[in-house]
Amino acid sequence: MELKQAGGKTYYIPGRTNIGVFKTGEDSVCLIDTGSAGDGEKIDEIISGRGWKIDYIINTHTHIDHLGGNAYLMQKYGIPAYCTEFDMAFAHYADLEASYMNGGKPAGKLRRIFAHPGKIGFRSIEENSLAGIAWTPLPGHTFGMIGVKTSDGIWFLADSYLSCDYIQNHRFGYLCDVGKYVETLTYIKTLEGGLFIPAHGIAEEDIAETADRNIENVAGLLADLKDICQDFVSLDRILQGMYGKLGMRVNVANHALLSSTIKSYLAYLEDEKELECKFIDRIMMWKAV
Ligand SMILES: [Zn+2]
Repeated sequence: MELKQAGGKTYYIPGRTNIGVFKTGEDSVCLIDTGSAGDGEKIDEIISGRGWKIDYIINTHTHIDHLGGNAYLMQKYGIPAYCTEFDMAFAHYADLEASYMNGGKPAGKLRRIFAHPGKIGFRSIEENSLAGIAWTPLPGHTFGMIGVKTSDGIWFLADSYLSCDYIQNHRFGYLCDVGKYVETLTYIKTLEGGLFIPAHGIAEEDIAETADRNIENVAGLLADLKDICQDFVSLDRILQGMYGKLGMRVNVANHALLSSTIKSYLAYLEDEKELECKFIDRIMMWKAV
């Protein structure tokens, strides 16, 4: 892990989850996201290695690969973390995310994978203003995800889009609302800034083309689903088909992410009147209209 400069006052630590670092003073910074479990110590080494201390954390959303370092850093520095009130609900309750993904309380394996830290000092970003920080809602990937812009024009756009190199190999991206996700993709093309940094993938000066690739990717997944649903098909058969089309490995975590996301796609297609849904022999089935 290393620190890269993105603007006059803004840096980031590239990694599996990119971590934003913004100078709030001569020797102090705030962080934008904290990576996965165990990343807190590594982030702290880089920050304290510069002689800086951490003022506070912003979580663009509260998925486990974005707040993994929170507990360690919040306790060490005695600092709060800011996120939206919607996403805070998930952070505050250990089993809520896993239960949402599963559609009911899941077995221990899934509860452990998606476990959240609880009430460790999260604060509402809606109710507080942070000097030098602007933010905007980017719903679709989660209910309350935000993008953060630092005063020197650097955007941290969280999981609002997938990097082009990622899309080439993996077409799947988790989301909770297809309509809002596509609206967000259209919206981020209008943002002005010097550099756009996604949570996963490379920083770019212009993301219009990347956003368009993502819109095409969603359209491709919608087409795949309609292709699978040429005749009435159950959810498990749809998921079996999507595993194949996406080349995705089958495991408990992937299954939770895929089935939750595909349910959102099916709901979107039903709302758009592109799929019909009915019970056949007491099995819920979908078919393209
Ligand atoms: Zn996420």
